Amino acid sequence: MERIKDIVFATNNAHKLEEVRQIVGERFRVLSLKEINCHDDIPETAETLEGNALIKARWIKERYGFDCFADDTGLMVDALGGAPGVHTARYAGDGCNSENNVSKMLSELEGVEDRNAHFSTVIALIYEGQEVVMEGRVDGSIATKRGGNGGFGYDPIFIPDGYDITFAEMPAHEKNAISHRGRAMQKLMGVLMQTDK
Ligand code: IMP
Repeated sequence: MERIKDIVFATNNAHKLEEVRQIVGERFRVLSLKEINCHDDIPETAETLEGNALIKARWIKERYGFDCFADDTGLMVDALGGAPGVHTARYAGDGCNSENNVSKMLSELEGVEDRNAHFSTVIALIYEGQEVVMEGRVDGSIATKRGGNGGFGYDPIFIPDGYDITFAEMPAHEKNAISHRGRAMQKLMGVLMQTDK
């Protein structure tokens, strides 16, 4: 019988954990930060998504000894020179919420014609002595007003290419199939399954 291996996902986000467990559940026991008793405020001080994902993954490996993976996501808007990028979560300032971020984005882009943007998720994996970095990306545009109640973050104003509805107007499974995180996760699963043969 195959041995189930432990791997830490450097997050406490229940939604992300559930998503990953559904895919690798039979081969891996995916542990959250809480489950390994890590309550550290891991500094995300890098200027790139890759840098921040690596900081988190190495932090866990070095201090807790677990193989692990960590993710970092950003929204890059062409007309804003790639901003907010690595600062996506705190675009409207410290302590801001998604509502504030969306409002700021809409007002920054008021009257702007070029609304092209993309989401990128970078995952850093440390597994059996190797470091692997993967990216998932979805291209699209920023809507001129909010649409839909689903999802989270910038979903009400992000229209993926090939659609005329926002991520917040799609059923979760449809968004996950084409989203930045969904694509990065699919790559992660591919690497894990390959390495684990
Ligand atoms: P994180 O690195 O996954 O914490 O993502 C950083 C920020 O990007 C979050 O605070 C959200 O505002 C935004 N974000 C990440 N993923 C999504 C998504 O799928 N839809 C909309 N916003 C997202």
